[in-house]
Amino acid sequence: MGTAYAIQADCPQALPERRVEAELSRLDRLLSTYDPDSELSRFNAQPPGVAVPVSDGLGAVVDAAVTVAEETDGAFDPTVAPLVALWGFGAQAVRATPDDRDVAEALAAVDYRRVVYQDDPPRLRKAARAHLDLSAIGKGYAVDRLADLLDDAQCRSFLIEFGGEIRVSGSAPGGGPWRLGVESPSGSGLVTTIALETGSLATSGDYRQYREHDGGRVSHVIDPRTGYPIRHRLASVTVLAETAAEADAYATALLVMGDREGMRFADATGLAALFVVRAERDFEVLPSRAMVPYLPG
Ligand code: FAD
Repeated sequence: MGTAYAIQADCPQALPERRVEAELSRLDRLLSTYDPDSELSRFNAQPPGVAVPVSDGLGAVVDAAVTVAEETDGAFDPTVAPLVALWGFGAQAVRATPDDRDVAEALAAVDYRRVVYQDDPPRLRKAARAHLDLSAIGKGYAVDRLADLLDDAQCRSFLIEFGGEIRVSGSAPGGGPWRLGVESPSGSGLVTTIALETGSLATSGDYRQYREHDGGRVSHVIDPRTGYPIRHRLASVTVLAETAAEADAYATALLVMGDREGMRFADATGLAALFVVRAERDFEVLPSRAMVPYLPG
């Protein structure tokens, strides 16, 4: 999935690495837009109107993605693929400097309400032209499936880290909660640590994946409400949630919203979020109310 993973676990027997790799390959074949033969790529190639039978896994991820899109009023939108490509990111990256007309054209096909998921048996249908990109929830979903593997192996505690999405269970070595560091966007160390016993943490930021353009940075995170890459003072946002898929998706949604709208959303919904904002000289670290209990003193 274009990134690395690390697992630290206390289990009755060591879990063979090939089991982990096999599960990640299975999920890649389900969710990748980088593999033209993946289940998602084959669905994307379908015309509107066709109810396509899909696996439980793809159906569950799309259903979860559309739920977050509804709850964030489209700040997170899995149909954002045409805009991601237009701005030069992802597997179908096309043009690096689109004009307003190109943006309006791509934006016309971005609307999560066009994707209809029916379960039992799981089927997906496009009510109109749409192209799915699950990069903002897929890694989180993969972490949750690896957590299932470790739970099935009766592991007493674990930490899974996969491209910035983290899920922990049980006590850290030496006892007590896991202490998870939130890195400074400047790359100079941590802005804080988060103490977590069981749950998931995901961070989305604008300082790792971007392109230089006209003397400024073009982020890989796009605002589906405008069609343009995010440009505001919020450098990163870290979200805690029960599952890594939810944390992954909400972190992207709050990054799109920016710190003011994002903080209002987090406090109104009880979401534990940490906003790292560019200030005069350094960074300001702003926790939502629900995040405060997880922070040091
Ligand atoms: P996040 O904030 O988690 O996600 C941002 C990404 O989501 C953007 O890159 C864009 O694709 C999309 N996005 C942008 N704006 C929005 C929005 N408003 N709403 C919803 N989505 C949005 N990368 C590779 O380089 N090579 C690979 O082979 C590869 N394979 C992959 C296979 C799978 C199954 C998945 C899920 C991803 C793969 N990736 C690959 C992409 C990579 O792993 C990361 O997903 C990507 O870099 C984004 O992760 P992030 O945590 O940096 O950003």
